[in-house]
Amino acid sequence: MPILVMKFGGTSVATLDRIKRAAKRVGVEVAKGYDVIVIVSAMAGETNKLVGYVSETSPLFDAREYDAVVSSGENVTAGLMALTLQEMDVPARSWQGWQVPVQTTSAHASARIEDIPPANILAKFDEGMKVAVVAGFQGVSPEGRITTLGRGGSDTTAVAFAAAFGAERCDIYTDVDGIYTTDPRIAPKARKLEKIAFEEMLELASLGAKVLQTRSVELAMRYKVKLRVLSSFEEQSDEAGTLVCDEEEIMESNVVSGVAYSRDEAKMTLFSVADRPGIAAAIFGPLAEAGVNVDMIIQNISEDGRTDMTFSCPTDQVARAEKAIEALKDSGDVNFATLDVDDSVAKVSIVGIGMRSHAGVASKMFATLRDEGINIKVITTSEIKLSVLVDRKYLELAVQALHDAFELEKAA
Ligand code: ADP
Ligand code: ASP
Ligand code: MG
Repeated sequence: MPILVMKFGGTSVATLDRIKRAAKRVGVEVAKGYDVIVIVSAMAGETNKLVGYVSETSPLFDAREYDAVVSSGENVTAGLMALTLQEMDVPARSWQGWQVPVQTTSAHASARIEDIPPANILAKFDEGMKVAVVAGFQGVSPEGRITTLGRGGSDTTAVAFAAAFGAERCDIYTDVDGIYTTDPRIAPKARKLEKIAFEEMLELASLGAKVLQTRSVELAMRYKVKLRVLSSFEEQSDEAGTLVCDEEEIMESNVVSGVAYSRDEAKMTLFSVADRPGIAAAIFGPLAEAGVNVDMIIQNISEDGRTDMTFSCPTDQVARAEKAIEALKDSGDVNFATLDVDDSVAKVSIVGIGMRSHAGVASKMFATLRDEGINIKVITTSEIKLSVLVDRKYLELAVQALHDAFELEKAA
């Protein structure tokens, strides 16, 4: 039998009624002759609640116990989905990550999937089971501990299963009907894309567009998984939603194809750092060890052997970063005057493969923000993206203004 992977996100399994609606969609595919692997997220809001419990109990928590707690939301929906399917006379059972097993690294809270041996589930399909419902977002480490794959990780579970089982397609059911030029909740003029290139989606995801987890796009690109994003709230045809595919499959595209944002960013500056060879390694090595994901970095020109070093990271990692930097100061490894933390910034980025061969994109972005009176605090660029940090209060305005300036509401 051909295998299909169907993933349902948090809003799509938020209530028992929605689980029923999702199960009916699964039933339609089973009736077409597929063996289906269903990946479920926790009910909407559950994971946030569990993360809150952990932080309140232990601010600088043990990541192994964090994973034990926050992975549990998916166990509930997996069991409920299997029960719902059984009520519809569809032979189904649930699997937690460790039962499959979804083997991951031991990087708790952001583990990577290493292998998914398909034998156990295939044996059940051979016995007549039609649907394997798997709890997304979780796996098991070589030490036998429960791991999670980072927020939004069920997308990655889904793509990894599609690759491991050679599925015909991986359908990601969510609360929007596809991938848009930007988040439709922020820019009402956002346009739904019929197709988007892996590389562009990869940039959009890594720059904050949470419609797909970055790692899921990486895996789909590497293993040539046919990946589709569509709504779980509408009746669906085989052509619904947005297909993530190779660049060659897209005939025409705009120079800039999308705008992404990341709301909760912080900017930290070490003033008057004693400059010397190895100073960057001395600062950023320990930050990485402390689990801080540093994003943008700027080092100013030195004057009299002193320089300023600015970097950005997610706001929820500021406490860890401050602790690591204070430790550096105390140990004498890094000599600086003051540390300034601005935790009210956001990152706005434009992405497009066309930027490779078009000049003037950066100046247009900067002029657009200037015309709106928005100050740019940090800039970074790469071949197909341009990112800026701005005050968080201007986030919506910046996204909408850039969407207008690059005329993303119009197809190429
Ligand atoms: P799920 O719970 O189904 O995984 P998510 O909330 O993780 O859903 O992702 C879907 C959300 O992603 C949408 O509701 C939308 O607000 C947001 N989003 C951000 N950027 C985009 C984009 N470019 N296209 C579509 N949705 C986007
Ligand atoms: N429930 C997890 C989260 O909210 C995983 C997911 O939904 O993809 O991050
Ligand atoms: Mg998600």
